[in-house]
Amino acid sequence: MTDDFSTHGFYAKLSEGELSAIRCESCSSYVMPPTSICKNCLSKNLEWVKVSNIASIVTFSEIHVSNKDYQSRTPYIVAIVETNEGLRLPGIILGVTADKVHIGSPVLIEINQPSSTFPSRYYFKLRDRASD
Ligand SMILES: [Zn+2]
Repeated sequence: MTDDFSTHGFYAKLSEGELSAIRCESCSSYVMPPTSICKNCLSKNLEWVKVSNIASIVTFSEIHVSNKDYQSRTPYIVAIVETNEGLRLPGIILGVTADKVHIGSPVLIEINQPSSTFPSRYYFKLRDRASD
């Protein structure tokens, strides 16, 4: 699975408990969303690298109407976060209401095994600025 430079490979890494991204070995650019060629230099010389689970909120919205997998969780917050490496990921912030969420708020990216009640493989958790 190591050489699977695709979204499937990304989720396979998550299943192993690692938040990972593809990085180009030629120019060191990150290749996200996952694909098998570097968008910066067109190299196919790629590697999976572990990335930080510390991120901050770029944008967010509160969802009131969802599909059957998530409707029981409404209202909930979806967000795009940016990791320390500058990678952006979409996901759900668990355990908060919109009034507690701000652009730039720090979050942790946590990995979970999918279940029938929560099909996502990762989620965001607001992080107290004081706690490292
Ligand atoms: Zn490159």
